[in-house]
Amino acid sequence: MAMTKSEKIWMNGQFVAWDDAKVHVLSHVLHYGSSVFEGIRCYNTKQGPAIFRLGEHIERLTYSAKIYRMKLPYSSEQIERACIDTVATNRLAECYIRPLVYRGYSHVGVNPIGTPIEVMVAAYPWGKYLGDDALTKGVAVKIGTWARMAPNTLPAMAKAGGNYLNSQLLKLEAVEDGYAEAIALDVNGYVSEGSGENLFLVLKGELVTTPLHNSILAGITRASVLQLARELGYHVREMVVPRELLYVADEVFFTGTAVEVTPITSVDRITVGAGDVGPVTKAIQQAFFGIVHGDVPDRHGWLTKVTRVAAQARA
Ligand code: PMP
Repeated sequence: MAMTKSEKIWMNGQFVAWDDAKVHVLSHVLHYGSSVFEGIRCYNTKQGPAIFRLGEHIERLTYSAKIYRMKLPYSSEQIERACIDTVATNRLAECYIRPLVYRGYSHVGVNPIGTPIEVMVAAYPWGKYLGDDALTKGVAVKIGTWARMAPNTLPAMAKAGGNYLNSQLLKLEAVEDGYAEAIALDVNGYVSEGSGENLFLVLKGELVTTPLHNSILAGITRASVLQLARELGYHVREMVVPRELLYVADEVFFTGTAVEVTPITSVDRITVGAGDVGPVTKAIQQAFFGIVHGDVPDRHGWLTKVTRVAAQARA
């Protein structure tokens, strides 16, 4: 599972060599989880490398930072540029982009006031998140025994480093029990989301997903799938989902930058529907991959082209 290095990482406005992109061990973030971040995919479309919904990802990053009162030292436009330039400088086509904002080194102590706000952007090659067959064959998942953050404890809407301690507990449990992933319930026992994915169900032809108040991250893939489904003529609904609805649903799938649109074929070893990739999931996959691969026109303006010339001009 070792990662593939690229050449350079953008750190606080400058490119540094991959191996030199380091922080001090007394940085606030290491001790108290004080970071917010994004995960973004760049696709090698038929028209060249293009970043999926860059504007929306950076907007969410600014919201996450605002919730944690981190004053970003760069504008959204500058961070978007940094993402484009990092892909271009590393001469990457298909890759994952990780912008991270964190509280750096000044003092140790919970009170974060006065810590410097640091920003970095890395981009590197990345394959399929849940294995090569996940998209075509689907995955087996379990309901995790750890609940998602309760309202007014840690803000689920912020994509903050600390939230991923909960995700790690879910993921560890899933993998050690032989599942690809775990689905978390919220503090009231209703379905929330996966450790790093949103969740959709198909109920008699209708598409259902869990609403924001069930401790989910407002996924950008989730929003894209809701839009594509409406365009395909499906009725879509955000609805509180009891756990047992997962067992009787016709289809269930995950959405997320990492998993894209990944079918779920069993939950707690109970087969979902016919146990294969259902027709609605297939139609959504087709619509989604059509756009990100550049097979159909980008009619929503979701793709930001990466041009090397532009990056060099700014270097
Ligand atoms: N929920 C969680 C907890 C996540 O980490 C992610 C991945 N960012 C998602 C949902 C899916 O969000 P997106 O589609 O924006 O990647």
